[in-house]
Amino acid sequence: MFLASVLFPGGKTRTRSLIVILLVMVLALLPLAGCGGDSPPLALNPLEVVGDVDNSFSLSGMEDGPVPVSIEHRGKQISAYALDDLLEKAVTRGTSFSIMIQSHDGFVAHIDGENLDKSYIALTVENGWEAINFNHPVSSNIKNLKRVVVIADGLTPEEMFHVINPDGTLASLSAGALFRDGYSYRLIPRGSATQTRDGLDYHVTTYYRRPVVWLEDYATITSPAVVVGKLGEVETLRQDGIFVLTGNGLGYMAGGEMIIPQAAGVVLNPPSKMITDVYDDAKALLESGEKVLVILVDGLGYHQYEYALEHGHIPLLSTLPQPEMAMVAFPSITPVNVAASLTGELPHINGVVSRNVRRADVPTIFAWCLDQELRSAAVIGPISAVEFEIDAIFSLDLNQDGSTDDEKTENTLKLFAEAEDYDLVFVHYKDVDRVGHSYGDLHPETMEALAGNDAYIAQLLAQWEGAVIIYSDHGMRPTDDGGNHGALQPEDMFIPYWIFHTNQLP
Ligand SMILES: [Zn+2]
Repeated sequence: MFLASVLFPGGKTRTRSLIVILLVMVLALLPLAGCGGDSPPLALNPLEVVGDVDNSFSLSGMEDGPVPVSIEHRGKQISAYALDDLLEKAVTRGTSFSIMIQSHDGFVAHIDGENLDKSYIALTVENGWEAINFNHPVSSNIKNLKRVVVIADGLTPEEMFHVINPDGTLASLSAGALFRDGYSYRLIPRGSATQTRDGLDYHVTTYYRRPVVWLEDYATITSPAVVVGKLGEVETLRQDGIFVLTGNGLGYMAGGEMIIPQAAGVVLNPPSKMITDVYDDAKALLESGEKVLVILVDGLGYHQYEYALEHGHIPLLSTLPQPEMAMVAFPSITPVNVAASLTGELPHINGVVSRNVRRADVPTIFAWCLDQELRSAAVIGPISAVEFEIDAIFSLDLNQDGSTDDEKTENTLKLFAEAEDYDLVFVHYKDVDRVGHSYGDLHPETMEALAGNDAYIAQLLAQWEGAVIIYSDHGMRPTDDGGNHGALQPEDMFIPYWIFHTNQLP
């Protein structure tokens, strides 16, 4: 209004308004018409960099990406993003990758991820986002770009979305491959509104149009099933649940709500026992006046237990009442599952969602014991996986045999011998995990380490009278150079869970 008032101080209101509208339209069109001087053109649509990358992102212009370079294109110097710089910002996954360049009108060019040093993406007045490849065939120079998709090979299981059940993996999907060939669009209701004008009702319903992936295309999805999130969320897979393709993974939506923004995968037929039950079971036993010994055998998957049982590696454990299968929290790593088991809460609630967090936001069973004036102890190695509210008993490798599990056993037996009884004793054995990483889940060396823990547990049980919980924090799966865990894989996620009273033993 100010501009119009200056130019046309005496004009009528209606004329002035019209002129203002025209002026605004002309100003808005100036950059598109190429009359905007040296300022870069405006992007009507953002460019997405997505797929098998750690950081998917979208760009709305030449200012919000990596530092552009100057290239000569159609006889002029223009500023452009080096494709390699965009990929470096996105952090590509896998051992090698290819690139799919996709336009708004559905045109796609697929190029190798090697030798991209003469490949650029620019925003031009004529063509919007535009691929400019000086070395590649000219057909790769696509205009009006919508996406740059990274499709990787050699992804680790941690980088993929899995559909599993306790017996195996049914499907492993990557965001890059799904962008290439695996989604359809679906309208997701956002809201509706009605207004009345001159006695008539006018309705509008709004939606988000989202790319969705149908898991049924990849595996037979049966019920019951749970969706597991990357922050350790566990939610029942609902009939109305859908999986939305986000920049670098899948989000789980149900009832129009985003329930899990980043899903790690789906577990079909999950065991009803969860690792968080350690807290609830121990607390219930303590409340009933029992003393409780909680033994964590680090890195013992359910399949390793079955193998050891069959091959006679665990003479003591095989005499115990049969364990249940339990599911650990995601990611299947030690700090996350020490916290989940001892707080009774899943990672997104207790705060220990990765190796970078070592203190839970919620109290552990030790804090509860302090409140109840119960005596508790935690016997661990030289470093604590998660901080407790009590002073842990650290066990050092005094005899330098490469293990602290022998010293942990001695320290625990010393506690048992004290004049005053402990109500809760937690012991964290580590040898099975340590050796499993070096040799693999079922290797004779790993079985020998498990046999060693079996013998230590026998020594502890011989001196303990009360309830006992024995569990693991995760399993172990074979890799090229030994073993590993941390993914939503059946070997990593399912563990044996014993709960019994020493008076049940022969
Ligand atoms: Zn480990």
